[in-house]
Amino acid sequence: MFKSLPCLPEDPTFKLFNQFKADANPKKVNLGIGLYFDREGMPKVFDTVKKAVSELDVNNFNYLPIGGDREFLRLAGEFVFGEVFDPGRLAMQATCGGTQACRCFADLSLEVLHEREIQIAEPTWVNYHALFGAMKISRFNHCGEDGMVNAEAYYNAARNAPIGSAFLIQGGLAHNPTGVNLSLEQMEELIRILEERRMILFMDMAYLGFGEGIEQDRKYVQLCYEKLERFAVAISFSKNASMYEQRCGALFVKTVNGPCTESQLQKSIRETISTPPGFGQEVMANILKNYRQEWEAEVEAAREDIDWRRNQLVDRLPAEFMRVRETRGMFGLLPLSREQALRLREEFSIYILDNGRVNFAGVKACDLDYIAEGVRSVK
Ligand code: PLP
Repeated sequence: MFKSLPCLPEDPTFKLFNQFKADANPKKVNLGIGLYFDREGMPKVFDTVKKAVSELDVNNFNYLPIGGDREFLRLAGEFVFGEVFDPGRLAMQATCGGTQACRCFADLSLEVLHEREIQIAEPTWVNYHALFGAMKISRFNHCGEDGMVNAEAYYNAARNAPIGSAFLIQGGLAHNPTGVNLSLEQMEELIRILEERRMILFMDMAYLGFGEGIEQDRKYVQLCYEKLERFAVAISFSKNASMYEQRCGALFVKTVNGPCTESQLQKSIRETISTPPGFGQEVMANILKNYRQEWEAEVEAAREDIDWRRNQLVDRLPAEFMRVRETRGMFGLLPLSREQALRLREEFSIYILDNGRVNFAGVKACDLDYIAEGVRSVK
């Protein structure tokens, strides 16, 4: 049985993480996988999360409804949409992290779109290719030669896409992997074209708060919600609450037909995980209800900390790396070739992705000089 079954390649990010863990070099540095470590390299658990976990109701672990906990969804919706939140105009679904929110949207698209096609700018989060694998994926360039976002490429992709198809965008400036993304002004132009072509915009908002701050990042969602007839947004509390393994996310879809749209989303959940995990929903509902200000201050501190680490590193690098200072969020691409990234790994045990992606939230203060020395040496 299964004798001839081919072994599939490991996920590149997790493979790199495993390589890092197996590396015996005491000076090894992990800048690969997108996890938030503190400046001493310890995993981060927010104080508000610890508090909410200590208050968890351990006397009831019964299934949540297939759609998720309505209180969690209301509070998460208020957080993501701010004052424009209107549950009467949204279908809401709790999901197993942001990943499943993407999949749920893909499943919905297969049901409702006339054109099962989605535009995706490259490079991007690699998992989209599998998550949207049942649709036709059309690719275009996220960045220009200068490493900055290529807004024209976005507009052209939208102009040339089939009417009624889908368009994916990561929300806010904290783009994975480049750390650069469309500004609010550029979004306005894209929205105009999408609306004209009756396309649905799917915004993957995995890093809300890590781009320009919670309030500013939220404006990307608000703008799309207000100006687009067809809009969906996926959110995740993996990063901004550092709850990675708890798999807490949600999908919000703008609709005039909430109950039927939700029934479609629930079909996708029922067929895959039956009901969404409750732990993260309960913790986030408690935080959003009782400790929101405190938690938002922690998110803000995390964002400032990432910016500090990025700047400290760039300060130690030659002029050609200066544009990395303009990146936002956990990630940025160092202008290094694949070979240079490999040399960094082999000669210095400094682990970055093959495309040069660095997780600034993995930079330890004590490693700054060593990382800079390695990068300078392979360049
Ligand atoms: N979207 C993007 C752009 C991501 O980078 C990630 C995680 O790395 C996700 C979605 C998925 O997040 P989650 O861990 O909540 O599933």
